[in-house]
Order: sequence, then C-alpha cells, then structure tokens
Amino acid sequence: MGREMHSTTALDKQFVWHPFTQMREWIAPETELTVIVSGRGAVLRDEAGREYLDGNASIWTNLHGHRNPAIDRAIRRQLGRIAHSSFLGLTNELAPRLAERLAGLLAAPDNRYRVFFSDDGSTALEVALKMAIQARLQRGEPRRTRFVSLSSGYHGDTVGAMSLGHSRLFHGAYRAVMFETIEAPGPHCYRCSFNQAAPQRGADQRQVRQCQWECVSELKRLLDQAPATITALVMEPVIQGTAGMWMHPAGYLKRAQEVCRERGIWLILDEVMTGFGRTGAMFACQKEAVLPDFMALGKGLTGGYLPLAATLASGEVFDAFLGQYHQFKTFFHGHSYSGNQLGCAAALANLDVFARRDILKVIARKSARLRQLSQVFWRHPHVGDVRQEGLVCAIELVEDWATKQPFPLAQRTGFRVCAAAKRHGLLTRPIGDVLLLLPPYCATERQLARMVGALWQALNDELPSGS
Ligand SMILES: *Cc1c(COP(=O)(O)O)cnc(C)c1O
Repeated sequence: MGREMHSTTALDKQFVWHPFTQMREWIAPETELTVIVSGRGAVLRDEAGREYLDGNASIWTNLHGHRNPAIDRAIRRQLGRIAHSSFLGLTNELAPRLAERLAGLLAAPDNRYRVFFSDDGSTALEVALKMAIQARLQRGEPRRTRFVSLSSGYHGDTVGAMSLGHSRLFHGAYRAVMFETIEAPGPHCYRCSFNQAAPQRGADQRQVRQCQWECVSELKRLLDQAPATITALVMEPVIQGTAGMWMHPAGYLKRAQEVCRERGIWLILDEVMTGFGRTGAMFACQKEAVLPDFMALGKGLTGGYLPLAATLASGEVFDAFLGQYHQFKTFFHGHSYSGNQLGCAAALANLDVFARRDILKVIARKSARLRQLSQVFWRHPHVGDVRQEGLVCAIELVEDWATKQPFPLAQRTGFRVCAAAKRHGLLTRPIGDVLLLLPPYCATERQLARMVGALWQALNDELPSGS
C-alpha cells in the first residue's frame, strides 16, 4: 500500500460517517476501503489501479458514463461564466431552458407544467408534499390533508419523505416525528398474496400471475373510506426501487390513476430512479400514457454528475398559488442552491445526449441483450426470480425457490455475493437478497456480458449449486 492510500483510508476511518453504513464494521482495522479516484464510461478505477464495472450506475445516478465528453464540456463551459448565483429574486440563463425542456418531455396537451428546482430526490418529494397540502388549503379543500402511498415505497430520508415510506427497518426509529400516511399494497407480483400462480422457473411472475387486480380493489377500498380527506397518492411508477426492484404489472399505473381521478385525488409520481430512460421510456409514466399532477426528478437529471432535483407541478396546482401578495398564497419554500447553474448545464447536456444519440433506442437494444444474458441466473437453484424492466435487472435469491422462502436476513447473502462480485471486477449493491444490475446506458454489450458473468461467478462462489 502506498502512503497516500493509507492516509485517505485513515482519514476516512477517523473523520467520516457514511450513509446506510454500520460504522463499527467500516472502521474496523481489517476493513479495506475502496478509494475511487477516476472513472471513464462504465468503468471505475480505485487508488490501487484496480478497475471495476459500475454495475449499479453509482447508485442509480449515472446515465451516459463517467467523463462523458458532452457533459464534461458543458460544465467546463459554464464554469467559465459562473458556478452559482441565487435563484431568489433572480433568474439565470440555464434554469428556464431546462424547465422548458423538462415540461416539454412530458408533452402535456396544455404544456402548463411548472418546474421547481431543488437539490436531491428527497427534497423533490418534500416540495411536492408541501405544494399539495398548501394548494388544497388555498383551493378551499382544507380537509384533504392525508397522503396514500404504497407499501415498501421509498421516497427519501427527510422527515416528509420518510413518512411516505413504510420501511420499518429504515424509519422505525423516527416514528415520533413522522406523520401518518395510508399504506396501500405495492403490486409486487412475485411476493403478492393475491397472486395464485405457483412459482415457475424462467418466468417473470408478472406475466404468469393469476389474480383479479385485487391490489387495485384494495386501493379503491382504502380511498373510499374517506376520499375527501385525501390529497394525493404518492408512488414510484412501474418499479419500486429501494423496495427491492418490485416491478409492477403493466396496467397498474393507469388503473391507479383512474381510481384517483374519480375521487379528485392527485397523483404524485416519484420518478427519481425511474426517470430518464431507465425503464425504457423517458419517464416510466409514459409507458402507460399517464400524466401525473406532480412529478419528482433527481438522480439521473444531471446524468449522474451533480446534485440537482426538480418537482414538476400541473397548471392546476400552480394556479392555486396565484394571488395578491397580502393573501399569502406564495409557496414559502426554497433551497440555497435552487436553479444552480452548473447542475442545470449538466442536465441540459444530459438531455442533449438523449436527443443526439437516440438513447431510448440504445436502451431498447441493450436491455434486450441484458435480458438474454440474465437468463443464466435461472440455472441457479437459489434464484427465485429474475425480473427486468429496461436497464434494471433484479435477481432475487431465496433459500427455497419452490416456496419462495427467503434466506435469514442476518446471513447477508446478497451482501456476500456482491462482495465476491467486487473481486471479479463488478461493483453493485444489493437490496437485501436482491442482486441488481443497473448499468450506465453507455455500457457496451461486452461490458454487459462481463457484468452478468462476474455476478454469476460471485453467486456460485458464495452459494455453490446444490448447497
Ligand atoms: C434515491 C431515491 C429518492 C431519494 O433521492 P436522494 O437524492 O437520495 O435524496 C427518492 N425516491 C426514489 C424513488 C429514489 O430512488
């Protein structure tokens, strides 16, 4: 080990507190830290010169690869002008252009979406929540104060976003400061109690499911208990990411929207993970021709470069905030880095890459390839489900595939497999025992094959077939 390597690790272990990390394990002398020093395309390189494929796109943020020339250039060019100036009482050259582009991508017939800028996915959700509550008040609907969200939904770690999630593990400790929300079943066919189909090797449970859309009936029943007290349904469309890549059956989103519409309930879509092509469409809601009342964007908005987020609100919502100053209908909310120029420059360049390179076509081609490659996982007896949507592939490990019995959580099976994958040159983080591949869109077909190969080897290292 070189001296500098030692010092980075030592400083980290002494001074830094990492997210979602048991720090006692982290700071233990035997724990080796990986210090990333550079990246290019789908490859990351550490201080020791080892290279890894970025199998989860740097926690679902990166789209076109690291050091993408067009995004690099846009940020450099913007640096030559200004990095940041306040968005309070001022505007800048970039944010309005980005707002126009984002609204345009949703292609609403009235083109009246308004874009509110913030910093990360959690704040994009907080903004939507506060806008919804205030808009209801100002529209003379003060009783509509409650939110409905899906079980195991994840919308971030701020107090409002946590309240929308239903994760006992992540958020149990903060109950005292969280507000109550109504929990509707997340339509996860593989583990859905309404699905009568027996598990089948090689089959996506969404295609073979046997049910009567009881998840939608249950949503309806919950809303009908007091529809006039509910402001909005909040959900991740098509894929519930942090839940473990729960993929919804086609048609759920459309049905959920109809159920809400009929009751005057708004739809807040969290596209922080699913946005920007990840599911194969620019936005997941476009797969079902659904236009939400609010949409939250983060992660991939800047191509995975900078912390910028956006909340889109419909014209109807926006109108509720217009008035004389003394009526105090203003949205009293803001963040210091709202509309940040460097972030907006990266985001505009990101959208340019989509347009110039026809990225949605690239995603279609590469996701078909990934689907072929990932069929290998079905050969392993401890794989219970292999599901995919666009460039999101999830492999769920189970003790017994015929009963779907999970491994005991404390065995950390998924974690161990991913640690082994790292030794084979692949970086990815599991969710419990769900292994994930979310490659950057620039990953070549060879790199996709190497990612699948590394994960397959790692799986067999940790769980030799027949064990
Ligand atoms: C990551 C994520 C968030 C939170 O975003 P942060 O930038 O981490 O605050 C919210 N919703 C979804 C669906 C996410 O995947």
